[in-house]
Amino acid sequence: MIKQTTQQIAQTLNGKLIGNGEITIESISTDTRQAVLNGLFFALKGEKFDAHDYAQQAVEQGCIAVVVERELNLSVPQIIVEDTRLALGQLAKWLKAEINPKTVAMTGSSGKTTVKEMTAKILQKVTACDDEVLYTFGNLNNDLGVPMTLLRLTPQHKFAVVELGANHIGEIAYTAEITLPDACLVNNVAAAHLEGFGSLSGVAQAKGEIYRGLKQGGKAIVNLAHYYPQWQKEIGEHELQSFCYTGEDKDSYADFWAENVELHLNGSRFTLHSPQGEVQINLPYLGEHNVSNALAASALAMEVGADLDAIKMGLEQRSNVKGRLFPIEINPHLLLIDDSYNANVDSMKSAVSVLKNYPAFRIFAVGDMAELGDETTACHQEVADFVAKAELDLVVSFGKESAVISNNARHHFTDKNQMADFLLPIILQKIEEKQPLVLLAKGSRSQKMEELIRSLCHSF
Ligand code: ATP
Ligand code: UDP
Ligand code: MG
Repeated sequence: MIKQTTQQIAQTLNGKLIGNGEITIESISTDTRQAVLNGLFFALKGEKFDAHDYAQQAVEQGCIAVVVERELNLSVPQIIVEDTRLALGQLAKWLKAEINPKTVAMTGSSGKTTVKEMTAKILQKVTACDDEVLYTFGNLNNDLGVPMTLLRLTPQHKFAVVELGANHIGEIAYTAEITLPDACLVNNVAAAHLEGFGSLSGVAQAKGEIYRGLKQGGKAIVNLAHYYPQWQKEIGEHELQSFCYTGEDKDSYADFWAENVELHLNGSRFTLHSPQGEVQINLPYLGEHNVSNALAASALAMEVGADLDAIKMGLEQRSNVKGRLFPIEINPHLLLIDDSYNANVDSMKSAVSVLKNYPAFRIFAVGDMAELGDETTACHQEVADFVAKAELDLVVSFGKESAVISNNARHHFTDKNQMADFLLPIILQKIEEKQPLVLLAKGSRSQKMEELIRSLCHSF
């Protein structure tokens, strides 16, 4: 934030100020369960709570003013607005415009957080100090998370890297309009969260809304392998830049592409082609899909001023994003890969492709994919077919739907301890035989497949 008086904020929010207009606000909070530091408390209404009930508590914890939808009996100044959620977005939009950092935003079915981390690392190579790049913390990518991210902006920030997620149509139109990016992209479109959107075309529509938020003169970045013509009306007159792993798709050539890709056990090596020329990249992330994510990050970063040197330095530095193809080397013969953060059909296939390439005994520990609605059975079958073709050495499944993926009642579990008890002797035997072994665990967030990784880690 930047210092603002209650009077100034009331004006920005078109709110009615009750009480002292000269109180200086330096920070924002929305949750009494976290520290409320001399800030302005926004009373939001959620599914479970109405934070108007916590306003008094916020004052007792030190907040010095509140934004509310109705006047409360409080000792601090109150700004009354019609809708506190929209007011939070309005203040974030104002602050973003005021500080005016070069801003990039990304959405997509998978890889948003990875592309965000890669882009932030690249942009940190452009600035004198890492703190000049603001980027989404964790996964705060919804209609509250995006405003809260932007409200952390201060005058030191030269860049903002903002992840946008969608659970329903219209959500990204809202967050993109607040973010107003100089460049933005849809990383890909896949069968994730189908429950909220009905169909792939529905998913594409929801993601494509990001282009509607582009700043005047801003660039639309597209993945040629995941381009939907229906986006053209959102992109309008904005210029287009494209990336594509293979360089071309459907007779179009990409501006950013990868050549001579070598996939190694601890990352990959490839030549990045860009409008500014080419550079060799040693990428410390596993799998082809991360080469594609690196292209996406390069396109975003170059658009706001990164050169090839910054791109190389940024991409070659691994950010430790736990749960996303995160390698844990137990010993030279035993590698656990924690990909437990989340799963959809595409990311399952990417993970299996990574696992398949290891010259080792390959175990896939797979949990259910959630939120697929009517497509649930078909999606699990699609993954099952893909896994069968990969000819892994052992597939174990956890949950309910994923039983079809292991396709063997003895390899299906509803208890992770039992799964670990089953796996442990197999792993120990391979260690004894000095045969390299790689186990990759993946499932939807709700399946908590990291518990299996944790339990195996404790066994060594
Ligand atoms: P969320 O929707 O939960 O915020 P996200 O889009 O931020 O997810 P990441 O957290 O970067 O995505 O990655 C989630 C999962 O998707 C990981 O398991 C990762 O291996 C896989 N993944 C990442 N990038 C891609 C990609 N380009 N294509 C397919 N799968 C991918
Ligand atoms: N809230 C709070 N203190 C509490 C519980 C909730 O300030 O003890 C706030 C919370 O941060 C949110 C709002 O009340 O801004 C609505 O809460 P929600 O229903 O979204 O519940 P949550 O999912 O945040 O627990
Ligand atoms: Mg994410």
